[in-house]
Amino acid sequence: MPSRPSRADTDTPSAEQVRPAVLDWIVLKVAQRCNLDCDYCYVYNRGDTSWLTRPTYISQTVVHGLAERIAEQCTRHGLTTFVLELHGGEPLLLGRRRMQSLIDVVRETCAPVQVQVMLQTNGLLLDTEWLEFFARNSVGFGLSLDGPPELADRHRVLRGSGAGTTQRLLDIVSSLRAQGPLFDELLGGVLCVVDPSIHGGTLVRWFVDQGFRDFDLLLPDGTYVNLPQGWTGPGPYRRFLLEAFEEWYHGGPDAPRIRLFELMMLALLGRTNTLDALGGDLKGLCVVESDGSIGISDVLRICLGPYATDTLNVFEHPLDAPADHYRIDALQQPCDTCVRCPHFTSCQGGYLPHRFDGASFANPSIYCEALYALSDRMTAVLAADLPAAAWQPVPSA
Ligand code: SF4
Ligand code: SF4
Repeated sequence: MPSRPSRADTDTPSAEQVRPAVLDWIVLKVAQRCNLDCDYCYVYNRGDTSWLTRPTYISQTVVHGLAERIAEQCTRHGLTTFVLELHGGEPLLLGRRRMQSLIDVVRETCAPVQVQVMLQTNGLLLDTEWLEFFARNSVGFGLSLDGPPELADRHRVLRGSGAGTTQRLLDIVSSLRAQGPLFDELLGGVLCVVDPSIHGGTLVRWFVDQGFRDFDLLLPDGTYVNLPQGWTGPGPYRRFLLEAFEEWYHGGPDAPRIRLFELMMLALLGRTNTLDALGGDLKGLCVVESDGSIGISDVLRICLGPYATDTLNVFEHPLDAPADHYRIDALQQPCDTCVRCPHFTSCQGGYLPHRFDGASFANPSIYCEALYALSDRMTAVLAADLPAAAWQPVPSA
């Protein structure tokens, strides 16, 4: 699935070391089509129709233009590493031959910069050949999986037939795991879009039972004027997140890694949060579409209007041009309610697109109630479980 970029926050520096964000990460839409048709998908089903007029696959011309821009960005900022995250639609539709060429062109053009390649897939095309390809090219991948078939198949269906896809994906995973450890060695983690109709604790246990020990819970994308599918308010998400948190927090040594929970807890303990879903600075990355258009974040396209209009591209503009064009610093400024909120440290207003009211982003997230309750509970367990001398809540601004 096209997820928000899965920035590797476990590697982010401590609060004292945080530098102004330099763009060192690209989400690249290598295939603009998908074999699935998920009802919450921000590419196909949230109002933006730009995918219809873009090339199905990225061309060699765009790949070469982009490679030059990455090299330029690295030289200008003295970067020695750069992350290239391949997305779609479904990136595996590009095929191995074209993907090999893309990786080779970018790495050769940018040498000696180390270009780390990762990819987010719905997994339905995964096979042994793809795993070997990833291993040969040092490509890590993330998998999109929303839970058990009876839950996830309400949303993640085959394009055309509308048939459920989850059991098929689980069968593919079982078959690849039966061949050896490569699947789990290359799997970076799982992204799960939350459907709160399941008990949060049940969902966490299901992932662990399936052998997935590193995943994230994504809140479905929407704005105040383009609400998520089936929206009845933040209440169900509040309940779900609290249930999932209790299962995770009391899971002992067998607890999985859940990025949302880890990063909010670490923020409460003093580390600055850089995850975009938790108000992280979006200047550190950009999205490049299959026709070479550059934007801040593809999820922002659900805000429509100027945020779904292409004005910049890799042939004429540097990769960090969107930050100036969209005045991202001003756009990201938290609203007064968030700045005064006792949970701003861990939440930071949530994900930027979720703050949009049709005119501005100066609002709390549509998920405010859920994020507030989650952070409140985290604060309570830290206060109860840590010696008072070792921890005090990090004050908000
Ligand atoms: S797998 Fe689903 S969410 Fe991902 S790109 Fe395809 S339709 Fe969208
Ligand atoms: S919990 Fe609500 S008010 Fe507080 S920072 Fe998050 S979105 Fe803003």
